[in-house]
Amino acid sequence: MKTIKLLLIFLVLAFAMAPEMKLKRVHGNVYMVRGVDALPSLENRGFMSNAFGVLTKEGWIVIDSLSTPELSKEFVDNLMRVKKAPIKYAIITHYHPDHWYGALTYEKLGAKVIAHKKLLDFYQSGEAQIALRANNERFKGLYNSVVLVAPHMVVKDRITLKVGDTIFEIISMAPAHTDNDIVVYMPKEKILFTGDLVYKNRIPFMGDRGASSKGLMKALERIKEMDVKIILGGHNEPMDISAVDYTLGYVKFLRERVKKLKEENKSLDEIKEALRNSPYEKAVMYENFHNANIFRVDFELDAEEL
Ligand SMILES: [Zn+2]
Repeated sequence: MKTIKLLLIFLVLAFAMAPEMKLKRVHGNVYMVRGVDALPSLENRGFMSNAFGVLTKEGWIVIDSLSTPELSKEFVDNLMRVKKAPIKYAIITHYHPDHWYGALTYEKLGAKVIAHKKLLDFYQSGEAQIALRANNERFKGLYNSVVLVAPHMVVKDRITLKVGDTIFEIISMAPAHTDNDIVVYMPKEKILFTGDLVYKNRIPFMGDRGASSKGLMKALERIKEMDVKIILGGHNEPMDISAVDYTLGYVKFLRERVKKLKEENKSLDEIKEALRNSPYEKAVMYENFHNANIFRVDFELDAEEL
């Protein structure tokens, strides 16, 4: 009896702690679900990123797949409550688990999966499968049900997709956050889906082995030139264009400060210590990403000198 009671309490607690998925309408026919601000865990089911759905005359276009097939299935169920229509395309902004690992649901539903050519290369090289196993071990079986899906269409530079009368421009911004970032622009609506490139009150993650802080600055400068009203990123509420300057500010700050400290012959540990406090220390994910970003920028600055 006691065990059953304890089990019940545990289940209630687990349910109460797991973030709920709530579909919100952002603008016109554009919908989103908002993940929690945290690293992936069994408690949050890996629901720590956003996904988006755009309803066109021909069906749904989705952007990003969340972390598992269960989460993307739940997302699709939400979309179908708005309107039962086929999922035509699933656009994956980059290869990180919280954006790509749930893509199986879309493939099973007959959607064409679109991603950067480099994501396909990563898949075909077998490295993606190795990374999946390592991630699954690190996050204690969170990705047990994940089956990696290769894109059916790839983007090298840019492609334009017309679905019904809705236009989507899919543009490569790589290398930036990874070596396979793409953004999706809806020119009529002036909406830009930015994956993990743009943040407000949260610092970007530049610790990926394919990341480039220099490339990220370039991508942000390009985005600044675009005619954008609403920015929909992987980990924020909807943003306006001011978020681009926020993100750019952090990347520039980090590059300038690390460069100066290197010129003073400071070691990596001394640089980390010197930059522990910064104008960005209250930003979301600072504790998780800041040191990894310093490490990456230090490495990049060495490579740039060669
Ligand atoms: Zn990412």
